[in-house]
Amino acid sequence: MLKLSSKNTWSELLEENKALSARVTELEQVEASLLETEERYALAMKGANEGLWDWDPVSKELFLSSRLLTTIGMGKDTLKTTSHEWLNWVHADDCEKYQRVLSQHLKGKTEFFHCEYRVRTCAGGYIWVLAHGLALRNAEGIAYRMVGSIGDITQRKNYESKLLHQANYDYLTGLPNRVLAMERLSSSLEYARTHETSVAVLFVDLDNFKKINDTLGHDIGDHHLKEISLRLHYCIGETGVIARLGGDEFLVILPNASEKEAIERVCSRLLDVTSQPVTISGYEFFTSASIGIALYPDDSSDPTELLRHADAAMYQTKGAGRDGYCYFTPEIGELAVKKLTMESHLRHALEREQLSLNYQSIVDVKSGEIIGAEALLRWQCPEYGQVSPDQFIPLAEESGLIVMFGDWVLEKACQQAAYWQEKTGKPFHIAVNVAFPQFRDGHLVRKVKQVLQDTKLDAASLELELTERLLMEDEQGCGEALSELRSMGVKISIDDFGTGYSALTYLKRFPVNTLKIDRSFVSDINITPESPALISAIIMMAHALGIDVVGEGVETQSQQRFLREQGCDYVQGYYFSKPLAAEAFDELLLCKEEWLLS
Ligand code: C2E
Ligand code: MG
Ligand code: MG
Repeated sequence: MLKLSSKNTWSELLEENKALSARVTELEQVEASLLETEERYALAMKGANEGLWDWDPVSKELFLSSRLLTTIGMGKDTLKTTSHEWLNWVHADDCEKYQRVLSQHLKGKTEFFHCEYRVRTCAGGYIWVLAHGLALRNAEGIAYRMVGSIGDITQRKNYESKLLHQANYDYLTGLPNRVLAMERLSSSLEYARTHETSVAVLFVDLDNFKKINDTLGHDIGDHHLKEISLRLHYCIGETGVIARLGGDEFLVILPNASEKEAIERVCSRLLDVTSQPVTISGYEFFTSASIGIALYPDDSSDPTELLRHADAAMYQTKGAGRDGYCYFTPEIGELAVKKLTMESHLRHALEREQLSLNYQSIVDVKSGEIIGAEALLRWQCPEYGQVSPDQFIPLAEESGLIVMFGDWVLEKACQQAAYWQEKTGKPFHIAVNVAFPQFRDGHLVRKVKQVLQDTKLDAASLELELTERLLMEDEQGCGEALSELRSMGVKISIDDFGTGYSALTYLKRFPVNTLKIDRSFVSDINITPESPALISAIIMMAHALGIDVVGEGVETQSQQRFLREQGCDYVQGYYFSKPLAAEAFDELLLCKEEWLLS
């Protein structure tokens, strides 16, 4: 500060005056530059849609200058208030966080103040803000002023929460998805661990849902899933968590599940709601559910393992006839691991040339001639040896591998049949087993067309064997394909007849050429009185519909004789020949053209 003194001489006064003017100019320059900086800062704030705040931690006085205030609906863009007052505008759930972060910065524990919180608007809603700040401290490090910026980040927050929702919830049903389900399961287990309670994990899989999806289209499939999800959600309510794991698989977490009766009551309710029909466009659709149950702490304390165990138990339910529930046991676990290992070996079976075909002769009962053969798939695995088709075919069907295998069987069998026709100069009939997944998206029809073209085999020499179950379960999906195959001249036969639903109505509806009476009836011919009666009834009925009959699994002369007496058209079984490799069947064809039937 300049001080004027009366003792100064005139020249000294002049000097002082000069110095004073220089100081004033200097101050004016500083002020101008400050104004410029402030203006620049204000512009930058405006550009960034942010505001300024200035707070005195001692008096609690708070100054806010921000477009935010207009957004809040205060109708002004500056506000002089106190931090206590400001807290009234902060969302109740964010107050604690806001104060904690602020206090940490004031104590010097953080370099900057940085906090995202919600602020109430005059209209009654909330907006999200981001506040940055820095405390100015005295020599002792005590904060005496805090200055910072504040801006509206509602849009970003909404976008983030949308992303978060997408990452955690299923888009179709709105239920928690697998990611969130696993998080919830982990926290349920954590809670159960500290409170020494149990948790039940229920793996729920819809039965026959794929049929709806594949045959009626994804729109109807989606509609069905939404409806079932709603029912499951309603059914579980507050008792637990329900999530969609994907496809037609759901997960239910039941905390405090120490009583089996309570778990089973939930299962019964779930089964009940899933089996009620779903009406879509005036049509009723039916599904049921298979449930697998795994328990914490009995079965595992690891969330992923519990889910896997519940999944394995669910497969057990499917195997036991579906529409039910089953608890996990160590045996089920072992079986699941075995199945999984086998499936991984099976995946390489084709490329590692472990698959082959055997041929079992089909004999004309009247002439005793071999009219053809059934092609039967074999898997020789280095790890397991010769695996029975009853073991690996269901595995191939479940994993979808059957489509690739089925193509290979069709190619090989038709090539072989064409070869035998050429070699013997006689018609040779080849029967090939087909499974449901091969029918999807018109695959089988396309493949059959291509194979017949490539091998030049006459379509009438090919017979496709389907199981009764396939027809019953998938009437609409296969019906069209079967009609197309028939119009090409390919024959259709029903395998293992009598073991499935034995609903004969479909014989009229589907273009069937042949019925193969299951070997369980044939083997019982001389044991139970019902079997002979049933066999003759089947033959009579089939003939009345213009359908041929093959007796399967003929092992004795008396069985063969009985079938012939009843008018059965063809026979197949160990009595004539076991399934043979192509070379062995070649010999059989040459040396034993016909059996002496008596
Ligand atoms: P399937 O189509 O009913 O085939 C007849 C089964 O009965 C064959 O069993 C055959 O070896 C057996 N068999 C034939 N005659 C007799 C007999 O006199 N006594 C006894 N005890 N059994 C006899 P395999 O080869 O084990 O095949 C089992 C099933 O696996 C087949 O039953 C068929 O459903 C399925 N399968 C086999 N190959 C294929 C294939 O290429 N594709 C599909 N999708 N399934 C196949
Ligand atoms: Mg068969
Ligand atoms: Mg059969």
